[in-house]
Amino acid sequence: MSQHPISTSPLDVVVIGAGPVGLACALEVQRRGLRVCVVDKGALVNSLVGYPTNMEFFSTPELLEIGGYPFPTAHYKPLREDALDYYRRVAQSEKLTLRLYERVLRLDGEPGAYEVVTDKGRLATRYVIIATGFFDVPNRLGVPGEDAPHVSYYYKEPYAHMGQHVVVIGAKNSAAKAALQLVRAGARVTLVVRGAAISDSVKYWIRPDLLNRIAEGRIRALYTTTIQRIDPSGLAVLTPEGPSTLSADFIYALTGYRPDYSLLAALGVSFQDDAARTPTHHPETLETNRPGVYVAGTVCGGLNTSRWFIENGRHHAAVIAARLAQNVS
Ligand SMILES: Cc1cc2nc3c(=O)[nH]c(=O)nc-3n(C[C@H](O)[C@H](O)[C@H](O)COP(=O)(O)OP(=O)(O)OC[C@H]3O[C@@H](n4cnc5c(N)ncnc54)[C@H](O)[C@@H]3O)c2cc1C
Repeated sequence: MSQHPISTSPLDVVVIGAGPVGLACALEVQRRGLRVCVVDKGALVNSLVGYPTNMEFFSTPELLEIGGYPFPTAHYKPLREDALDYYRRVAQSEKLTLRLYERVLRLDGEPGAYEVVTDKGRLATRYVIIATGFFDVPNRLGVPGEDAPHVSYYYKEPYAHMGQHVVVIGAKNSAAKAALQLVRAGARVTLVVRGAAISDSVKYWIRPDLLNRIAEGRIRALYTTTIQRIDPSGLAVLTPEGPSTLSADFIYALTGYRPDYSLLAALGVSFQDDAARTPTHHPETLETNRPGVYVAGTVCGGLNTSRWFIENGRHHAAVIAARLAQNVS
């Protein structure tokens, strides 16, 4: 793995995003003899770094593998920490050129002669692969007080919350898992759900655990409830019975994330006029409306962030690499 400044001669490919899919793309194009550099605004696999401590993936390890490297784990499902080690070892083994903690700002130039503009400089390249995922832009609550210091859109671990009133907003896997961990760590948990029930998409091994904790009263669940306002010591909600207030020392709004559309626009990628605001791309080649600029991984699904994940998004790498190798040869 190299972090030395790259030469000024143009690269063949710049991959934006050092997530699992960005790394898969980089190693596939590098194996085909192309000069590639991966740029990430944060750490290697930065999204996974931000996931909860000891989070268990829902996928079994072989479905998270990239580049043909086996992913041995002691358990049936890998933990976040296993995946962090695995993707680092892959990046090191492939000697990928990485520029970490360097944010991509925009894309200048024209097809075949692009310049990726970052907060640290410019990278000349023939092709660009955008693998920027969805984890950097939370779906905000859109209510007064949402930026208060006791509100977080990212959950890490429960241990700071023993004996505290914690409100978890959301009804999908992340909210369900956080509520369960928090209550087991001694927090007084209220789950606020916009819909009439816990989402059907909650994994089959998590859902009964959550429903049973709600049924026995250890987790208080408020359904068909929306947030009106966040105050320093609580929040105002609208329930089917009318307005109410909840005490809250900490609030986790686990209401999902979305791709960074301002970045996509700065890279010259438009989006389609569909419900998912899908970034414009050819469904087979993954080339965007900007020639020579490709999308890979989760970002391809737009607002439909569960359309592409590691299991299926990793296969974008071989598709794009085969096409680029053909163009270059
Ligand atoms: C809690 C949780 C559990 C999950 N469990 C599973 C699972 O079990 N199985 C599965 O298949 N999927 C799972 N997923 C989904 C999966 O993690 C994502 O789909 C996956 O990370 C997508 O990989 P990616 O490479 O497309 O994007 P990401 O991993 O999100 O990588 C995108 C990268 O782009 C970088 N970036 C963004 N903007 C810029 C910029 N301007 N400049 C430079 N770099 C930038 C980010 O820092 C980041 O490192 C889970 C997701 C979550 C949230």
